[in-house]
Amino acid sequence: MQSAPTTDPAAAAPAAAPPILDVVDYHKAYGDFVAVDGLSFAVGAGQVVGLLGPNGAGKTTTMRAIAGIIPPTRGRVAVDGFDVTTDPVEAKRRLAYVPDDPKLFETLTVWEHLRFVAAAYDVPDLVDAGEELLARFELTGKRDTLAQELSRGMRQKVAICCAYLHRPRLLLLDEPLTGLDPRGIRTMKQSLAERAAAGSAVVVSSHLLSLVEDLCTHLLIVNRGRRLFYGRTDEVRAAFAGAGTDGSAEDASLEEVFFRATET
Ligand code: ATP
Repeated sequence: MQSAPTTDPAAAAPAAAPPILDVVDYHKAYGDFVAVDGLSFAVGAGQVVGLLGPNGAGKTTTMRAIAGIIPPTRGRVAVDGFDVTTDPVEAKRRLAYVPDDPKLFETLTVWEHLRFVAAAYDVPDLVDAGEELLARFELTGKRDTLAQELSRGMRQKVAICCAYLHRPRLLLLDEPLTGLDPRGIRTMKQSLAERAAAGSAVVVSSHLLSLVEDLCTHLLIVNRGRRLFYGRTDEVRAAFAGAGTDGSAEDASLEEVFFRATET
């Protein structure tokens, strides 16, 4: 006998895709000092999260924990389902982290950096992908230059090319525009938007609210190690809306959001 067709719409709905980044009750203490206090958030494919907060709020500490550089005191961080603490290699294969002051291998050339990353992450198309990245970030002429002979902005660009080369599911970028010239800034913004459109999850920490405004689909605002707000950028702006000149509610600018959120 045939069973009756189900009429429950929930039964027919596709399961929601699991997040690429899942941070659950992350807590980091240095001795008695609590740098991050019970932070939870999840980031899905295509989302670009702006991590905002005053100096010392815990942004870099959080980025470094996600990247598997510092172990959490408590809580869980998973990348594409792999726990950063218990399954670090699989988690790290799926992410790239560009710190605010990227360290390069001073006696390797630009191309040797890309070759190193390609070997470490099993990148099959180093030559094509590498040359395309160098051209895009205006580094082709520096292909055989040692890192120690690069300008600050060029070093930043090399770190970004290395991060992009293995097409990570998760990109973590701490102040990614530091040292970049206007063309580099534009390339950086366009390329990040493209990576997100291609299905990567992105977390970008910056004090440059214009970058956050242009790029971010979501905002995570932290202060003193605690989450103040996490949600879609438009939701955050509406949540911190003020009265407009005609007395009606007016969405807050990101600058107003930042001050209102961190002052309360
Ligand atoms: P900024 O905007 O200035 O870069 P941030 O939000 O990235 O700040 P973190 O670098 O995460 O802040 O630092 C958070 C807190 O943790 C700060 O009070 C900092 O002094 C403290 N902290 C960071 N690293 C250590 C450490 N290794 N030992 C002790 N305290 C630390």
